[in-house]
Amino acid sequence: MEQEEEKVSNAFIPSSLSSFDLEQVLHALPSNALNHLFSLGVCVRCVLRLFGIKGPICASVDNGSENPLDSTTSNEAKLCNICLGILQFRFYDDREKRVLQKDTAYDVALLIADMVKQERYQFDTFSLEVSIPPLILQNETSVWSYMQKKYGSEPWFQEKLHTGCISIKDALKFSLINPLENLLGCKSSLCPFRIRLTYTHTKALEGVAKCSENDGSCKRRKTGESDLIGQRPLSSTVEIESFDSSKLFLKSASEPCHFSYNCSRTPFYFGGRYLKYSRNVSQTRWIIDDERMGEASVEEIIGTKVLQACRGDNYKFHAAGREDIDVRMLGPGRPFILEVQNTRLVPTEQCANNIEKMINEVENKLVRVKNLKLVGSDGWNLMREGEAEKQKQYAALVWTSRPLKDEDFQQVSSLKDLKVVQRTPIRVLHRRSPLEREKIIHWMKIETVAGSSQYFLLHLCTQAGTYIKEFVHGDLGRTHPSIGSILGCRAEILQLDVTDIKMECFLT
Ligand SMILES: [Zn+2]
Repeated sequence: MEQEEEKVSNAFIPSSLSSFDLEQVLHALPSNALNHLFSLGVCVRCVLRLFGIKGPICASVDNGSENPLDSTTSNEAKLCNICLGILQFRFYDDREKRVLQKDTAYDVALLIADMVKQERYQFDTFSLEVSIPPLILQNETSVWSYMQKKYGSEPWFQEKLHTGCISIKDALKFSLINPLENLLGCKSSLCPFRIRLTYTHTKALEGVAKCSENDGSCKRRKTGESDLIGQRPLSSTVEIESFDSSKLFLKSASEPCHFSYNCSRTPFYFGGRYLKYSRNVSQTRWIIDDERMGEASVEEIIGTKVLQACRGDNYKFHAAGREDIDVRMLGPGRPFILEVQNTRLVPTEQCANNIEKMINEVENKLVRVKNLKLVGSDGWNLMREGEAEKQKQYAALVWTSRPLKDEDFQQVSSLKDLKVVQRTPIRVLHRRSPLEREKIIHWMKIETVAGSSQYFLLHLCTQAGTYIKEFVHGDLGRTHPSIGSILGCRAEILQLDVTDIKMECFLT
């Protein structure tokens, strides 16, 4: 038995290994278990990390050739039965669309660093994230269960139970971080700029411990919680009572994992106020049946400029309330937040100032922005809270069916904090549920229009969410009272502008 296992181990460790202390490290391990692992088709790096030996795994150096592990792993013809090639640097490259065998961790790091440089990200630190298919973790659990059954009573195994093994993710990070730091010229740390390495496998969904039909021996084993292997004591990863030690349910694969890698950065938030001078620009992109409503949108005018300036992937626009497409937004403007995703550049206050200038210098002047600045991700919540508190002022050009007199002007302006009940307007009934809301008109003021007694400007300040058009014409009695009912005549709104939005706490 011992003899047989010796042979296996020799087949897996090239005899040329002399530098480094790999041989020494391996010889210090219990030879029966070591050879057993090799005979199960486990690669050298996986063996070392299972025994919790970190040194040789992360000993990869800049030129890559000095770690004997590298030549060992790349010489292994067979795909490792646990890591499916991840720690042998063998993978199907989703960019090149073929299987690659890299000799060293440095070579893999080169590949990743090239991608990062091509994307021209601005960063001074990075964090490395790895995701691997569950199949691999299940294989790992299987091997451990099996090893525990076989060697669980031996002292060295008892010891392992306390120290724990190194996870595949960590082993990969250990070997890549040094070369990546050197290639990218900065240190790694937990930070908003992330390099993500994603390994997937076509067999991943099949699961690993699929028992053959006539064999129920592994029924009780859990598969869902193997994700944490290496981060907790090994004893809890193993459930062996019903495990048949004569069988090992490894799902071996002939194909290595698919490997893809990309960068991402947590979003930046810009806050400010916008003004809209056009009655043909919607707040957000508005398409009905492939046809654009209005000539542009506030969202796109601001969003595309910011996106270009920061070289991001995408943006999301959030405003405090909205006005209709034919309503202008004047005065100090309406507060908004723009979330910019995965920016290549790190925006600064100066950058925000420049973007504001760029938007405001566009010739057609449909939209302007004010006070554009970087805000934290909590800006969004602040805006919502402020919105609930806010008052809005409007100027409406109104026509009445009879000429107005001084008494009418006085009557309207004497009304303070007038309570108005509004049923959901007919014009929005198709998309809003029918409700009855009470709103407050804080004050009103009538300004005459020279040379006309049936047209006038109505200035009013209302609680947020009041339907102004309906408050003027009454919406067939659905809004009460209304300007029409107060004056005892028909009243229509011809043009409407928002002239002020007062918010308690944000972007004033
Ligand atoms: Zn392996």
